[in-house]
Amino acid sequence: MDVHEYQAKEILSGFGVEVPPGALAYSPEQAAYRARELGGDKWVVKAQVHAGGRGKAGGVKLCDSDHAIQEACESMFGRKLVTHQTGPEGKGIYRVYVEAAVPIEREFYLGLVMDRSSQRVMIVASAEGGMEIEEISAEKPDSIVRSTVEPAVGLQDFQAREIAFELGIEPGLVSQVVRTLQGCYRAFSELDATMVEINPLVVTGDDRVIALDAKMTFDYNALFRHPQISELRDKSQEDPRESRAADRGLSYVGLDGNIGCIVNGAGLAMATMDTIMLAGGAPANFLDIGGGATPERVAKAFRLVMSDKNVQAVLVNIFAGINRCDWVAEGLVQALNEVQVDVPVIARLAGTNVEEGQRILSKSGLPIIRAGTLMEAAERAVVAWQNDLTQATRMRAVK
Ligand code: ADP
Ligand code: MG
Repeated sequence: MDVHEYQAKEILSGFGVEVPPGALAYSPEQAAYRARELGGDKWVVKAQVHAGGRGKAGGVKLCDSDHAIQEACESMFGRKLVTHQTGPEGKGIYRVYVEAAVPIEREFYLGLVMDRSSQRVMIVASAEGGMEIEEISAEKPDSIVRSTVEPAVGLQDFQAREIAFELGIEPGLVSQVVRTLQGCYRAFSELDATMVEINPLVVTGDDRVIALDAKMTFDYNALFRHPQISELRDKSQEDPRESRAADRGLSYVGLDGNIGCIVNGAGLAMATMDTIMLAGGAPANFLDIGGGATPERVAKAFRLVMSDKNVQAVLVNIFAGINRCDWVAEGLVQALNEVQVDVPVIARLAGTNVEEGQRILSKSGLPIIRAGTLMEAAERAVVAWQNDLTQATRMRAVK
C-alpha cells in the first residue's frame, strides 16, 4: 500500500529523520494560509499523488508570495497529474503539501528495498540525487552504493558510517546521515514497509541533512498489525477496479487486454494469463477468486470483470481440488443469470466432480463455450474475442 509524501514524512520524522516544516491543504486559500502560518518567504507547493516524477510534470512549484501559492494551487487542484509513473490516465490532485523551501547544496538518492535474492533489506544510495534510480543505474551505475542489513542485528552504526563515507559526505555531517539511515531502517522494519525512498536527501547551505521527498510502501499482508498505517489508505489514488475488488476480498489487478479472467488460485491465474498471451490474446486482469468459489463469489467476480469496458470475452478457469466442479458450475449458472454478461464466456472446469459440473452447464442452456484443457480454453477465448470484435465492427459499419 502506498502513502502520500506528507504521510511518509510524518512517519519518518517520528523515527528521527529531519524533514522541512510543512502543512497540508485542501484548497488554494487554505494553502496560502498554511504558508503564512509556516512563516518564511519561500515555499514549495507539492501535489500529493501516489507517484513520483511530480517535479517534471508541474506537480512541485516554488513560490515566493501568497499570490504565487494560490496560482500554483489553481493549476493543481481537481486536475489529473500525469507523470512517467502514473500511466496516461494520471492521478487526481485533491491535497497539496506546502513546505518551507530549503536551500539545497548537494542532493543524494537514498532507498531501502526488500532484496529478494539475499532475503534482506538492502540500502541503495547514490551521490547523484535528484535523478530517478532507474536513470542513475542506466547513466551512472558506478555511483550506486549498496549495502544489505543482517536482520539478526539490524543496521549497525559502522555500516551506516561506511555508506556515508562512500557517498563522500563531509565528516562533520556523517552523524546526521547515520541518524537518517537508522531512522529509515527502523521505520522500514518496525512498520513492515516494502520500500522507503528519499529522493532527494539534501545537504543544505547551513549544514543540515534533510529529506526533501519521501515515499513509503507497506506490505498489504502486514497491515492488520498496523491500523495507524492502514488508516492512511487513499482510495482516490488507486485503480478503482482494484479498490472495489479489495473491498470484496478478491485479489484483482487490472491490465490492458480484452480477455477477462476468473480463476481460483494465484498460480493458476498466472498460468491462465500466460496461456492467453501464448494463444495470441491479452488478459484484461489478474483475478484470484480463492479456494471456495461459491456462487456469490463467482457472481461478484463477474460483476467486477464486466465493469471493465475493455473486456470482450471472459475466460473462467477453475481447478477443483478441495472444491467441487458441480458447485462451481452451479455458481457459474447462477452468476450468469444474475449479472448481465453480453460477451462470450469460455469455461474450463477440471478436477473433482467434473462430469457433474459439465452436465449442469449443458442443462442450463446458457451459451457457455466449453473447453477441456487450458490451451483449448485460451484459444477459444481468443477466437471468441476476435469474432466478437469483427461482429461489433460490422454492427458499427451497418449503423
Ligand atoms: P518528485 O520526485 O515527485 O518530482 P520531489 O519532492 O522530489 O518530487 O520534488 C522535486 C524537486 O523539487 C526536488 O528534487 C527538489 O529539487 C525540489 N524540492 C522539493 N521540495 C523542496 C523544498 N522543500 N525546498 C526546495 N526544493 C524542493
Ligand atoms: Mg523526488
